[in-house]
Amino acid sequence: MSKISKIKAFQILDSRGLPTIATKVYLDDGRFAQASVPSGASTGKKEALELRDGEKEFGGKGVNIAIKNVNNVLAKLLEGKNVYNQEEIDQIMIDADGSEFKSNLGANAILSVSLAVAKAGARAMKIPLHQYFNDMYENISGNETDQVLPTPMLNILNGGEHADNNIDLQEFMIIPCASSFSESIRWASEIYWKLKDLLKAQNLSTAVGDEGGFAPNLESNEQALKLIEDAIHQNDLEPGRDVFISLDCAANEFFSEENYILEKGNKTLRNAEFVNYLSDLCAKYPIISIEDGIAENDLMGWKILTQTLGKKCQLVGDDLFVTNEKLLEAGIQSNVANSILIKYNQIGTITETIKCICLARKSGYTSIISHRSGETEDSSIADLAVGTGTKQIKTGAPCRSDRVAKYNRLLMIEAENSFIFGSKSAFKNFIKDS
Ligand code: PGA
Ligand code: ZN
Repeated sequence: MSKISKIKAFQILDSRGLPTIATKVYLDDGRFAQASVPSGASTGKKEALELRDGEKEFGGKGVNIAIKNVNNVLAKLLEGKNVYNQEEIDQIMIDADGSEFKSNLGANAILSVSLAVAKAGARAMKIPLHQYFNDMYENISGNETDQVLPTPMLNILNGGEHADNNIDLQEFMIIPCASSFSESIRWASEIYWKLKDLLKAQNLSTAVGDEGGFAPNLESNEQALKLIEDAIHQNDLEPGRDVFISLDCAANEFFSEENYILEKGNKTLRNAEFVNYLSDLCAKYPIISIEDGIAENDLMGWKILTQTLGKKCQLVGDDLFVTNEKLLEAGIQSNVANSILIKYNQIGTITETIKCICLARKSGYTSIISHRSGETEDSSIADLAVGTGTKQIKTGAPCRSDRVAKYNRLLMIEAENSFIFGSKSAFKNFIKDS
């Protein structure tokens, strides 16, 4: 038993310069742990609520009310509790909030405590956070689970809501599948730098978007794919063998009145036509994973996408499932998607996040642990990916400290342990020659 003696929240800045919460959980032996919460830009409509002040400061984006909720409400309920009882602590916070979307206290307030409690628990037990998450995962799932170094998905070209350019699709990611995590990161970094050279050579911008990927104006989504393929080749690597491509369409952002509107209005497609468009891209390029290829409200579109591409491609629900067990269960029942993106601030507690990963795995869906476009230096998602044995992580380009913090944490975990690397095994069902 290790008791929580004090909980205190602070306002800090995220990678976009907007306020977010950092919370410290102190234990009765004087030790403490600190966690901070990320924030999305292209959010799903059913995400748990991120509580913002709405006052003049920071253009209404302050989080002072959420901080007060931690300091005045949650701290009082949790001080004196055994820090190891994560499930009980998370349930107390869920009950104290009492709303479906954690809109009374704010999911940002609740998550900051939930994550800091987990970190304090690991500290009290004198074990690394990934080990602590591994124990939690095994307890919740009832299954022994190997810790794994996840295969990284690196967003090296940004569009959509994350950049001020003309590219419709939000994220163009590379999935380097070398024999180790560190070698995969080296490949990614070399491809990223080669892409920069290629952009420069064509007089295209090398300024970066929110997740550290380049954000040039291009003629089409396809030009982005061609540039990435070139960058892979120029490093003497083979697209579709050594390195795969993954897309996050974030299709909510260009879906309007039953249509998918691309290229600044020059292309208006119905769902089945947009699925054909994606299908053509998959036939031409080594795309192995597509996230939010269809808007969250277009269930028929999701069915068409899953029927058309579900055997060849990982189809990831981000805005569709928002790390919510109930929504994932509904998706499984309707046979849509075959994978889920996991972002703990979409649901608001560590326990619910881990339960969602369990449900996905039990149901044959893959999971990807993910950052948000607004991040902090907190690298806990790296530990979450390793500890839960989730074989994939997406956390931006190999650029900008808020992104690199997670990859660096994984490099340290790799160096200090002998965990196997996920490589291609996470999406082996979708690789043609496996
Ligand atoms: P967000 O973007 O954090 O802005 O929601 C990331 C994503 O859509 O995966
Ligand atoms: Zn997404």
